[in-house]
Amino acid sequence: MLKLNDKELFCKAGLINGAWIGAASGDVVEVIDPAAQEVLGTVPDMGTDETRAAIEAAQAAFGPWKKKTHAERAALLERWHALMIENLEDLALILTLEQGKPLDEARGEIRYGAAFVKWFAEEARRIGGHTIPSPTPDRRIVVLKEAVGVCAIVTPWNFPNAMITRKVAPALAAGCTVVIKPSEFTPFSALALGVLAERAGIPAGVVNIVTGMPAAIGNELMANETVRKISFTGSTRVGSLLMRGAADSVKRLSLELGGNAPFIVFDDADLDLAVEGAIASKFRNGGQTCVCANRILVQSGVYDAFAEKLGARVNAMKVGPGTETGIAIGPMINQAAIEKINRHVEDALAKGAKIAARGRSVSEGKQYTAPIVLTGATTDMLLASEETFGPVAPLFRFETEEEAIAIANGTPFGLAAYFYTESLKRSWRVGEALEFGMVGLNTGAISTEVAPFGGVKQSGLGREGAQVGIEEYLEMKSFHIGGL
Ligand code: NAD
Repeated sequence: MLKLNDKELFCKAGLINGAWIGAASGDVVEVIDPAAQEVLGTVPDMGTDETRAAIEAAQAAFGPWKKKTHAERAALLERWHALMIENLEDLALILTLEQGKPLDEARGEIRYGAAFVKWFAEEARRIGGHTIPSPTPDRRIVVLKEAVGVCAIVTPWNFPNAMITRKVAPALAAGCTVVIKPSEFTPFSALALGVLAERAGIPAGVVNIVTGMPAAIGNELMANETVRKISFTGSTRVGSLLMRGAADSVKRLSLELGGNAPFIVFDDADLDLAVEGAIASKFRNGGQTCVCANRILVQSGVYDAFAEKLGARVNAMKVGPGTETGIAIGPMINQAAIEKINRHVEDALAKGAKIAARGRSVSEGKQYTAPIVLTGATTDMLLASEETFGPVAPLFRFETEEEAIAIANGTPFGLAAYFYTESLKRSWRVGEALEFGMVGLNTGAISTEVAPFGGVKQSGLGREGAQVGIEEYLEMKSFHIGGL
């Protein structure tokens, strides 16, 4: 079992070539429990040299790893998956302590994260190629799929487990090796995954983890020619920085970036279902998800009724440490997050919005914030154009379907969108008109390992999960056989 107070894990180093080592400088980064605001532990503050060593280890491991049969790689991934499930409680507690989300949600994230490992263990066996009819009788043409090579995996703090497995599982299944750079706010979940990968028997060098502040690590990952791909989840700002940095050595990229999800409730919606969906989509992880409803657009005829029903649910939400029972919303990740939320709410109030509901049961502490429902939201407010990344539900009023679609699409982002209607014709019309990579109709839940996850416009490039997820880690080679 992983032990939370296991000194080994909490003072553990990064993982390079199967060895747990510290930073050459001896420097460390403190990891803060956002609920208690206390230091949970430290991780090494690694830099250029450690990152280079990790890349070299991944390159050395790449040859033997890609030569394994698909079934051999799948068996190791299955074992890794089994260990995640066996250690679910410990992994969930580590996650809640460093990230803050309620323990039940953390358990859900571990199950979701593990599901990608199982899924891609299965997909490993289905990497195929195809044949192409030759233009001449003496030739045959075969298209082979081959592993891309060493992949850099850069992940955010809001899903410290699942954002890693969603990338590493398909990479390993395809035959790639990885250097993971987890968020400096939540490195322990990554290290715990590394411990389990080691226990599963995944060979040294296949999974490497470098911890620390991002600049030096990121610069090496971008500049190093051995890295053939960067797979990133995080903000659009850092995503475009990595894109520029990857250009010199023409690396492949997968980018899962920010969103600004519209959540549209039409007059003909099932309102109870819509409230349920809004609660799930808006308040999961305290509103700190890339797919969370950022702008709730409600048609005039049901605006007041929807606000009232949603408000009643929000008033009853409990805010406190994720480890306590009955908590709906944990602490926000840091002070900067609280400041952004406050800035958005103050700006909205100054421009005419009203607080229609506010969670009353909120623990004392600097990093807690009450969930609120704002009525009278308008498109000139900051929360209409930026991700608030907090438990704020702004309700925008609209009159017509065309108006709702124009507002929904009026953003440079295109990750997730949701809408509620009971009309079949409107379902197709609106579903096709929304410029987003993922659309939920009468549901606030769109994340699953079986469906493609990803965005359009400035929300990113590529897709994770589903059958297509493994293609992100495979190259195509046309093999021409002549003289037959
Ligand atoms: P972030 O962009 O600040 O950081 C993400 C990762 O990039 C972290 O590991 C960070 O250390 C690293 N990083 C920062 N600067 C870097 C640099 N110069 N070089 C290399 N790496 C660098 O994002 P965050 O605050 O951790 O996460 C929140 C953001 O992630 C939100 O915008 C959210 O929408 C987005 N997100 C997107 C998805 C998706 O699937 N599209 C999923 C989760 C989160």
